[in-house]
Amino acid sequence: MATRWIFGNQLSHSLPLLTEADPKEDIILMVEATSRSTWKAYHKQKLVLIFSAMRHFAEELRDNGFTVDYREADSFDDAWKQHQKTYQPTHLLYTAITEEPMRRVMQKFQDTLPKTITVDVCSDVPLFLLTQDEAVSMLGDQPWKMDRFYRQLRKDRRLLMNGNKPLGGKWSFDADNRKPAKDGVDFKAPIRFRPDQITRDVIQKVETSFADHPGQLDAFHWPVTRAEAQRALARFIDERLATFGTYQDAMLTGEDTLSHSLLSSSINIGLLSPDEVIQTVAAALEDQDAPLNAVEGFIRQILGWREYMRAVYLSQMPGYEQVNVLQHNRDLPDFFWDGQTTMTCVAESLRPVIENAHNHHIQRLMVLGNFANLFEISPQQTADWFNEMYIDAYDWVVLPNVLGMALHADGGLLSTKPYIASANYIHKMSDYCGNCPFNQKDALGENACPFNALYWDFIARHEERFAGNPRMTMMYRQWAKRNQADQQAIRKKATVLKQQLADGEFHR
Ligand code: FAD
Repeated sequence: MATRWIFGNQLSHSLPLLTEADPKEDIILMVEATSRSTWKAYHKQKLVLIFSAMRHFAEELRDNGFTVDYREADSFDDAWKQHQKTYQPTHLLYTAITEEPMRRVMQKFQDTLPKTITVDVCSDVPLFLLTQDEAVSMLGDQPWKMDRFYRQLRKDRRLLMNGNKPLGGKWSFDADNRKPAKDGVDFKAPIRFRPDQITRDVIQKVETSFADHPGQLDAFHWPVTRAEAQRALARFIDERLATFGTYQDAMLTGEDTLSHSLLSSSINIGLLSPDEVIQTVAAALEDQDAPLNAVEGFIRQILGWREYMRAVYLSQMPGYEQVNVLQHNRDLPDFFWDGQTTMTCVAESLRPVIENAHNHHIQRLMVLGNFANLFEISPQQTADWFNEMYIDAYDWVVLPNVLGMALHADGGLLSTKPYIASANYIHKMSDYCGNCPFNQKDALGENACPFNALYWDFIARHEERFAGNPRMTMMYRQWAKRNQADQQAIRKKATVLKQQLADGEFHR
């Protein structure tokens, strides 16, 4: 008898593990483990999503004729012991795992199995576009470039191509996708799903068993089934894709989603495959007259960034989790858990995370990542926070995005320059500064925006590392133009700001 073990972020009916299964012979094992060693201090909504989606998926499998051994247990080990006693399998199959910690747990577990049980690991391809080997091999030799990776995938998959040329004459329309959203654009609200009985049961369990975890549950609205995720994709394309491109980098008070799709929570657990999302969005170009800058911009996120991040993770783990080339070792402030900070842009970026376990890319990168980088917060503490607080967080996607993209803690393996910004960028791309006690134009006064002095302090502090970087020449030229007294005053102000943060200031 064969056991086919499905994990909570592998909920796809198209997995080879399932398409090659025999419902009459094989048993599907699913384990809802609640031990502290299995779960970090995840946001409550993340736990509800995973447990509810697992329970719904198990129901669907039963409807498809499978026998499902669904176990609520303290740990994977406990569940396996019970499962083995009941079914005595001779063959165990599971789908390849990307996350290194989980992969190691499974390897260790396999080593304890009796020799009478054979183990096979199946391809995870519908969860990603490339197999693990293909992803690493496409990454090729360093220096790596996301653009190169993305172009290759566009060519290989004949996506948005006109013969051998990119559709519209350009590989990327990124330059058209940086408009601030200050002119009263009508951003349509994303679809929200009402919790059914299964989800309500899980909410109760999480409120009881994980009461001390961060986050709120009264507004849980995430898709928990494939059917719901498909409706979310269709609604996104119908109502919100057209403005996705243009306002991709915008931030607006009270507008938590703008035109972002909110599909990452579904794609990352298998409810939607990246391939079907890309194909459906590409079809909207003709079927629904969607603008090319929106379609290309969206497809680049999944075909390009998502696959690229996973490839970097696979090629660098283990070890990548420890990178800290800029030697940043300060503590993440407490207000990251309650959102109560006097810095308006930071408060507005934290609020949706606490309320809904999500905020959009520019808030993650240019506000929270920027904050951590400029205040010299430990990359590991920052990554842990991202890992625990987001509905779509998994080790493989958090580490490259946080350590590589946002914090440059890998020394530029993943992107050529650090994404740092002074208040000027945040003011340009948002309406936050108008409603902030700090002055976005000032660097030195008592109420000066902390990002200004800290930005120049970062430039000065890391001169040796970045002055020769062609993408940073302009910054160093500007810094050099300042007189010595001005430079000293900025550095001194930055030192004071870092101490103030350590002393609990900026907490409301
Ligand atoms: P949209 O803006 O609608 O984008 C469409 C899709 O593209 C997303 O659903 C996602 O699948 C994909 N995508 C876009 N950018 C990236 C990227 N950089 N890496 C991987 N996939 C991408 N994404 C996660 O899925 N999980 C995370 O834990 C996560 N942590 C992040 C942390 C930081 C510091 C940064 C800068 C980015 C992080 N991202 C993460 C990437 C990105 O911000 C999210 O995928 C996106 O905000 C999810 O919301 P959405 O579905 O509305 O995305």
